[in-house]
Amino acid sequence: MSTLDELRALEDQGEFIRRHIGPTEAEIQQMLTVVGCTSLEQMVGRTVPAGIRGVDFSALPAPMNEAAAIAELRALSERNIRKRSLIGMGYHGTHTPPVILRNILENPGWYTAYTPYQAEIAQGRLEALVNFQTMICDLTGLPVAGASLLDEGTAAAEAVTLAHSTHKGKGDVLVVAEDCHPQTIAVLRVRAEPVGIKLVLAAPAKLAEVIAAQKPFAVVTQYPGTTGALRDIAPEIQAAHAAGALAIVAADLLALTLVTPPGEMGADIVVGSSQRFGVPLGYGGPHAGFIAVKEALKRSLPGRLVGVSVDAAGAPAMRLALQTREQHIRREKATSNICTAQVLLAVMASMYAVWHGPEGLKRIARRVALQARMLAGAAREGGFTLRHDSFFDTIVVETGARTDALMEAALTAGFNLRRVGDNAIAISLDETVTRAELATLAKLLGAAELGATAGGIPDGLNRASAFLTAEVFNTHHAEHAMLRYMKRLEDKDVALNRSMIPLGSCTMKLNATAEMIPVTFPGFADIHPFAPVDQARGYLAMIRQLEAWLCGVTGFAAVSLQPNAGSQGEYAGLLAIRAYHQARGEGHRNICLIPSSAHGTNPASAVMAGMKVVVTACDRDGNVDVDDLRAKAAQHGPNLAALMVTYPSTHGVYEEQIREICAVIHDQGGQVYMDGANMNAQVGLTSPAAIGADVCHLNLHKTFCIPHGGGGPGVGPIGVAAHLAPHLPNHPLVAEAGPATGFGPVSAAPFGSAAILPISYAYIRMMGGEGLTRATEVAILNANYMAARLRDHFPILYRGGQGMVAHECILDCRGFQQGGGVMVEDIAKRLQDYGFHAPTMSWPVSGTLMVEPTESETKAELDRFIEAMISIRAEIRAVEQGRMDRADNPLKNAPHTAAEVTGTSWTHPYSREQAAFPLPWVRAAKYWPPVKRVDNVYGDRNLVCTCAPLEEYAATVTLQAAE
Ligand SMILES: *Cc1c(COP(=O)(O)O)cnc(C)c1O
Repeated sequence: MSTLDELRALEDQGEFIRRHIGPTEAEIQQMLTVVGCTSLEQMVGRTVPAGIRGVDFSALPAPMNEAAAIAELRALSERNIRKRSLIGMGYHGTHTPPVILRNILENPGWYTAYTPYQAEIAQGRLEALVNFQTMICDLTGLPVAGASLLDEGTAAAEAVTLAHSTHKGKGDVLVVAEDCHPQTIAVLRVRAEPVGIKLVLAAPAKLAEVIAAQKPFAVVTQYPGTTGALRDIAPEIQAAHAAGALAIVAADLLALTLVTPPGEMGADIVVGSSQRFGVPLGYGGPHAGFIAVKEALKRSLPGRLVGVSVDAAGAPAMRLALQTREQHIRREKATSNICTAQVLLAVMASMYAVWHGPEGLKRIARRVALQARMLAGAAREGGFTLRHDSFFDTIVVETGARTDALMEAALTAGFNLRRVGDNAIAISLDETVTRAELATLAKLLGAAELGATAGGIPDGLNRASAFLTAEVFNTHHAEHAMLRYMKRLEDKDVALNRSMIPLGSCTMKLNATAEMIPVTFPGFADIHPFAPVDQARGYLAMIRQLEAWLCGVTGFAAVSLQPNAGSQGEYAGLLAIRAYHQARGEGHRNICLIPSSAHGTNPASAVMAGMKVVVTACDRDGNVDVDDLRAKAAQHGPNLAALMVTYPSTHGVYEEQIREICAVIHDQGGQVYMDGANMNAQVGLTSPAAIGADVCHLNLHKTFCIPHGGGGPGVGPIGVAAHLAPHLPNHPLVAEAGPATGFGPVSAAPFGSAAILPISYAYIRMMGGEGLTRATEVAILNANYMAARLRDHFPILYRGGQGMVAHECILDCRGFQQGGGVMVEDIAKRLQDYGFHAPTMSWPVSGTLMVEPTESETKAELDRFIEAMISIRAEIRAVEQGRMDRADNPLKNAPHTAAEVTGTSWTHPYSREQAAFPLPWVRAAKYWPPVKRVDNVYGDRNLVCTCAPLEEYAATVTLQAAE
């Protein structure tokens, strides 16, 4: 070996592969023995059908170590040019309070958590989300708000769909004010057309007139308008109501600290973005969108809603309210497909409000408003006129023939401003603008010095009502208090930094620190989505490279990174199929076949894309019933638009007939949409193209290491075969975002949640093609090891032809109900006493647990989980055999809290030790669930979704307990 080769070997560019993959070489051999295989190759041969094997990975890179990958991403971030972007349009500079930056955004205790379906071990993030909901309710003046939506544009679209579905019989006309943000209007257009909603734009001055003439089912206005004009919207809301329409208002949260909230003016629904509450611009996302509604609409809310209930001991405890109402669970009857939302960003925004409190927020808003008035004064002094005198933070200066020169001069001075037509410039102020910068801007406008003011918030629109009066927003203002509050919440929860989260279908793999670090590089964090693209060269280079790698992974010709969740990818992919059929003169094709085993987002997305869902059967082994599929495909032949199929199946099996299934659809002129949630079982071994699909989405927050954030953010890019490439999404404001022939945007931002793309980039860069393939093999091994070790204790529901499972396995728990009355939920809750998050419960099969260990878990951690499950099985047997009480046993009473176990009275027939320390190793790092089992029914009957009445609420609970 030459010394240079020796040096290269010692660099160890493959080190990350060994860090990411849990089991060592020696352990892999041991585990292979347990599953009855001699090599990974042999195991894959028995698992993945030969007919679909083989991928071309030439586009994928060689592995790279952490230091080199971080350096590469830093260099990319530094190719972005950071200017002070005063463009506005729903995206504003903001200071992320350092205490929140480090302890939430950069803290795995928060970012690696899962969606809070297991409420007892998610009380921390549930409390933060109740704070978010309270903040949104207070600021908008409406009583009920959800726990985040994907962005402002889609939140407006969700509001419109909500109005359309609750307002049946009111027709299909939607009136939209012209001064809504242009990207919101574009998203609304895309969403409206397939479901037959007719969008009518109206100038603000003509709004009342158009409403009276059109008799729409809903009206959408922006408050303040996109170029900053602040008008009294009460008359528009009244006009909407007079015409029988619902009034939807897209509002700015910071403005709402100073101006009359739309709820007080009668608005029915208020939407918007919480980005400027401490969440970096990040080239457009991720940010938490919000939606608030009147009482009467709360049961139709899209997305998730957190509510306060009680636990088994009668203490207040939070959980997702109306859980079965989560829209996509209603499948083809859903009016929204939202699953992954923006929890981490909602938590950040809520913490920003906790940190600043109502007075702090008002001060920030007043400063921004004063800056706008001073700049307006400077513009007047410089001889310009203002387009409007009523504004909060954004002014429009009539710059006439000097527009180009002024835009240029501003750019040279370090500012991005917004051009409004040919003859005007909008300037949007924010909390990051310094006095010196304001002086520079004033000088640019020709003012001698700062001082004069003009315009501002008109008297009639000053906010009179108090907001954020709850204790939490008025307590944690010292940094120590804030630090400890966030830590207290974090400690209540189970995240990946505590133990494995073996959630089938959700792929809770390692979110490596090296992948996370670049997210907060200033060169990525500080870029406005509508900044000139020549300032975003680093982003574009990263995006193009990631697209190329994902083309390599999927075998497809083109990728769009715009969809900001898997559900949005499904929707975008189906719209691409729809556009393709239309382009070929086959726009009548509208039938979408979906196997009964599909995830609920699939039918929900199909309906949103204007398709009719036809459910096809599954056989006893959980596979697509090919005969039924063939019959239904033939029956709908000329009208067949698409099949949506998950591969490997949601039952964790590689169906042998997948190519045949795709051929059946193609023979009838349909397209095959593959739900890519299970890509962790494909990468490097097979691909969506290899199985015969035309389009798929990937969940970068599953397969490609973006953390789940407690329920978001996510990225759901779609890959398409060449014939669909002209029909990918695009964006009206950024040509680079998609093909000119595309159907429009599905997200407000051109590249969706661009700021978290460095995570997946870093993952692929560090693993390289060989590491990615190895990860898939070990993911399959870990699942099969789990199945092999648990099969004598729990029946494994489905297996492939040669007895193997894919990357996940389903444990059948239905049999325990008969013998001992033990329900699957009891097992899930008992796992909490061991410090584990339960596997996916009762999906896709009711009464089962679906375990997906991922490649990242070490053998030691798998063994710990296996021991816990076996120990739980022994408890079940004790109940079945009558050695333990049927009603009063550790399973039924789980989880056990510290207060209960250390209480003076202990009446259960089993020991305190068995309750809290069922296995010796539990003692070493005991996790204490903060509450006992949460009562869902009580919470849904007594819906409380804000934190203001907590003490009040505790009082009523005590009263009722006493009764
Ligand atoms: C996670 C998942 C989805 C939805 O993805 P989101 O990012 O949550 O919208 C769809 N299908 C399957 C099978 C999934 O597991």
